[in-house]
Amino acid sequence: MHKISKTWLIESIIIGDRSIFKVICLIFLERIGIMYYEYFYMKKLLFLIALFIFCHGVGLSEERRNVYFILPEGHPYRLVGFSSGEMEDVSLKFGDRITVLDNYVHGSFVWYYCSKGQSFFYLPEIFTVKEPEGTRYDEDGNIILGSANVDRLNPIPIFYKPTDLIAVPKNYMARGYETRAAVLRKAALNRFIHLIADAEKDGVNIRIISAFRDARYQSYLYHNALKRFGMFQNSVAKPGHSEHQLGTTCDLTTDEIASGLTRDFENTAAFLWLKDHIPLYGIFLSYPKYKARITGYIYEPWHFRYWGEDRWENLTLRYKLFLCR
Ligand SMILES: [Zn+2]
Repeated sequence: MHKISKTWLIESIIIGDRSIFKVICLIFLERIGIMYYEYFYMKKLLFLIALFIFCHGVGLSEERRNVYFILPEGHPYRLVGFSSGEMEDVSLKFGDRITVLDNYVHGSFVWYYCSKGQSFFYLPEIFTVKEPEGTRYDEDGNIILGSANVDRLNPIPIFYKPTDLIAVPKNYMARGYETRAAVLRKAALNRFIHLIADAEKDGVNIRIISAFRDARYQSYLYHNALKRFGMFQNSVAKPGHSEHQLGTTCDLTTDEIASGLTRDFENTAAFLWLKDHIPLYGIFLSYPKYKARITGYIYEPWHFRYWGEDRWENLTLRYKLFLCR
């Protein structure tokens, strides 16, 4: 039988460790024999069970889980934490794994009550990314093509990097971006090159601006977006939540427009050609017009993901209409 100290038991109930439920059941079984002639124990036990149900019932707690800190290194963040009742500075760096003990809504933000080592501290949810569930890999350790939904709610592992990345040939890069080191997964690169070559045959110029991005680089973009547009920005994904990390996604442009990623792209011959042809290549626009409330991101006429050729055939008519608007 477990030996349990009273303080530990009460602390665990208050911070909401669900495994405590099992322990209480064990104590209950241990005590049940005594209860018949020790009324005192029963009262104490009933009090603990009531406290447990109260804490869980009113939503004060949830299961412990791990998150990763996602702001880039090289920026000082001063967090105040507590260790053995003393105040102290907590320093975190990109990719640090943190245990979340509880969460709270304060103002418009969700805050996590966390522990790391001996320290306890509060951290806004927007500075963290969750561990994904059910990511499917092939035998080479790459995420199976088209298998992962990467969006506001669903991340991929923060340190994931495909093993079959290949450099995009310079002549497929946009004007002024030729020196940028862009890489894509082999299958995706083949399809994008095929698509660009076919467009060329129809007299349409399409070029790549950006391709694979790892989570560390994404953390810089995310941090800059937070500084520029505020905490509710909806233009840059969190590290781990960007389709670019899959290595199958490209931002496209055309020589018709002078500057990088702009909405003007939707008025070009390149965009009209892409709209008509991409499903045949297994490529889809991830953030279509009018879908910002569903995707959680602004309209991005330039952002395309390769899902695999069979996706179009397997889609329902309703979803095909969704993708085409
Ligand atoms: Zn993009």
